[in-house]
Amino acid sequence: MAAVMTDHAVFISVGSNLGDKLDNCLGGIAALTASAESSLLAASRFFRTSPVDYTDQDWFVNAAVKISTTMAPLVLLDKLVSIQQRMGRRADAVRFGPRVLDLDILLYEDWVIRAPRLTIPHPRMHKRVFVLQPMCDINPSIVHPVLGQTVADLLSRIDDEDQRVIPLKNQPALL
Ligand code: ADP
Ligand code: MG
Repeated sequence: MAAVMTDHAVFISVGSNLGDKLDNCLGGIAALTASAESSLLAASRFFRTSPVDYTDQDWFVNAAVKISTTMAPLVLLDKLVSIQQRMGRRADAVRFGPRVLDLDILLYEDWVIRAPRLTIPHPRMHKRVFVLQPMCDINPSIVHPVLGQTVADLLSRIDDEDQRVIPLKNQPALL
């Protein structure tokens, strides 16, 4: 019997701070949505963002996308890892350090997953302006399934002048 393929709504964070950062982000989104398993539903603006965890590095370009996918969470994670590797990201690089492409799963439906390789919702999304502002672009009413607050509320509660998030002057058309 053929398995039934269900579509799932997933939010993914896209970032780069090495090379042509915008181009790397666009390449990652294109690779992610190239196959029949996933399609692009919505995209935020692209932002220039200051580095947060490890601050002695260049600014990032960040965005978020909403996709529809038939991939299960761990299958999707493997796909993101393989796209990051194909885009030239080194597996031995400094954690939180410079990267050609970072693709993180923020939300997978309203599922809560705590597996060794995968935590959903993303464990730091509620503290990061460079994640919450793009999510608000797509839909400010999305509710964090653990904290029970909207992404707009979570964003408004962050009081951190060091987290700079500035829209790019020239926004690419994705949809
Ligand atoms: P960062 O936390 O800065 O994104 P990495 O991209 O290097 O760091 O990810 C490190 C590991 O985080 C990955 O190997 C992956 O298994 C794990 N991980 C846990 N939860 C998630 C998630 N929601 N999305 C992406 N990776 C995750
Ligand atoms: Mg990552």
